[in-house]
Amino acid sequence: MTHKLNLTWNDVHERAHATALLIARFVKSNKLNPNAIQCYAVPDGGVPAALLVAQALKACEITMGMTSSMASSDLIIDDLEDSGDTRRAIQNLLADTHRCPAYFNLYHKKNEGLDGVWVVFPWEDQPRPWQGPEESVEGPQDAVTRLLQYIGEDPKREGLVDTPKRVIKSFGEIYGGYKVDPSTLLTVFEDGACDEMVVLKDIEFHSCCEHHMQPFFGKAAIAYVPDKRVIGVSKLARILDVYARRLQVQERLTQQVVDALMTHLQPKGAACVIEAQHFCMVCRGVRKQNSKMVTSSMQGVFRENRNPARLELLELLRD
Ligand code: ZN
Repeated sequence: MTHKLNLTWNDVHERAHATALLIARFVKSNKLNPNAIQCYAVPDGGVPAALLVAQALKACEITMGMTSSMASSDLIIDDLEDSGDTRRAIQNLLADTHRCPAYFNLYHKKNEGLDGVWVVFPWEDQPRPWQGPEESVEGPQDAVTRLLQYIGEDPKREGLVDTPKRVIKSFGEIYGGYKVDPSTLLTVFEDGACDEMVVLKDIEFHSCCEHHMQPFFGKAAIAYVPDKRVIGVSKLARILDVYARRLQVQERLTQQVVDALMTHLQPKGAACVIEAQHFCMVCRGVRKQNSKMVTSSMQGVFRENRNPARLELLELLRD
């Protein structure tokens, strides 16, 4: 399998700065006018490369214009020298004009030991409007790299090289709930004889708060009183999971579980009680190490104060 090297915007910005310094030296030693440099960008990748270099050159007090004619250019910029074929073809084209523009690349495969490596520039791997959001993970991975830099890390150090990839992959699981329609889980069975309360308690779960994207986790209890229709008891845990694997606030999570049951199962009542610890409270802000937040949502018979189902549920949850 070909090894693929995904360059980040940060990588190419660094290269553009390095190239700008080489060009500044070239301009000086050839006594060119630093305010009138003309550059030809080799299509397609040379164009974004040249734009980045032009930006970086401002720090060297050199302004670089773009020309569509190779013959009138002072320099030629490309993103990557691969086999050297492009450079040779251009030199052949210009052989009769007695001009020899200098040739600059952001990357030179052979010099950098990148032979056989598939180099992908950030502008080559943008999500296309006609593709779904899953088609490209390079953008999100780049965002993680930027975050690592933001907190003061070096994204290139050994332990972090694959971190953006791992983070985005883990998002597939942590935020996998967006891809599941809860109604597809609620396969209902008719059972006229069943009207006793069904409770599943101590369901462990984890979710992420939408205010800080920090985990919150704990246990939930879900109950319902059937009205001739039942579902597999494990489905109660699955419903919780589908909503938990999205950005949440605990109150809404609790409510959504009950709403889903009321809508699809149409029981005499449904209830959900969630007790959770929030990382954003443990690690930052108020730093309350052991505080737990309890939320509950009750509908139908569970809302009636003296209803036996409500009393029975509260009794069950007491310990
Ligand atoms: Zn939070």
